[in-house]
Amino acid sequence: MADFDMNESNGVQNSSLIISYPESMTDITDPSIQTMSALQCALELAELIKLFGNEMAAIVPHEYFCYVNEYEHIKYDIGTSARHSLHYKLVLFGKSLGELTFARSTPFVEIEIQKMKALFSVLIYPLRNALLYKQAVEKAYIDTLTGINNRAAFDKAIEQEIDFAIRHHYTLTLMMLDLDKFKDVNDNYGHITGDAVLIKFTDCITQCLRRSDSLFRYGGEEFSVLLRNTRIEGAKLLAERMRKSVEEMVFAHEDAEINITVSIGLAELQATDDTKKLIARADALLYQAKKNGRNKVMS
Ligand code: GH3
Ligand code: MG
Ligand code: MG
Repeated sequence: MADFDMNESNGVQNSSLIISYPESMTDITDPSIQTMSALQCALELAELIKLFGNEMAAIVPHEYFCYVNEYEHIKYDIGTSARHSLHYKLVLFGKSLGELTFARSTPFVEIEIQKMKALFSVLIYPLRNALLYKQAVEKAYIDTLTGINNRAAFDKAIEQEIDFAIRHHYTLTLMMLDLDKFKDVNDNYGHITGDAVLIKFTDCITQCLRRSDSLFRYGGEEFSVLLRNTRIEGAKLLAERMRKSVEEMVFAHEDAEINITVSIGLAELQATDDTKKLIARADALLYQAKKNGRNKVMS
């Protein structure tokens, strides 16, 4: 079933249509079969949309193609917008899968519009699968307890950040954090309380960070922060602020108040560093902070 809203004024075609599937499934024609086999191979959303744009361009020429999914914060567009446009919102089983816009300087004719719809029928399930795949991949990078990025995300991000820093001549500082004597919290108050303290700790340090700083749960009661475009002096000030915030944080448990502290090691990226070397230096400094009495920042 399709809700159609067509608006043609001054000879300019601007139509907007919501197409709901599976009711709107159309017969699959020869060019659609070709497109279908091409789309079957793409699981990554960006690749799928690009492939679909190319397939569509061969069947219905256009100068501009755009895919937007507001819910997923995605926008891909190719070409430059033009006078006549067709806009489609694709809905499968009542759920929006995003919006497609095609534009060109000459109006689209009815036969082309029919061909487009046939290709949407081919796109709809691969699109749904690519969105599900994207969500699954994103979930795989999230720590289930704290909701922050996990170790797998860190391993990927540190490689990317080092590449980025070298390519753009930016500085990069790695911060490694380890909660002090955290085993005692579990031993004294139980693991469930320990978990709640870890969540509160995460919230506490998140509040100290900027948007460009990425926080990760490195493992257990160990965390890391990648500080993009930040020199060691700035990182030291930030780490000291974080250390103090954690020290001042109070976790209420029944009649007791739980206090925790954190030790921090900081290392700035050097020209000869690779991922392993940078982590090893930050780790060694964290170890020094522990050796020097805990609740310390070392750089
Ligand atoms: P140190 O100051 O030397 O780091 O002492 P520590 O007790 O923090 O270090 P240790 O490595 O001996 O123990 C880490 C503790 O962190 C033990 C472990 O049970 C706890 N821990 C790790 N992950 C979790 C978690 O997800 N939940 C809870 N509740 N505890 C955790
Ligand atoms: Mg530890
Ligand atoms: Mg510890």
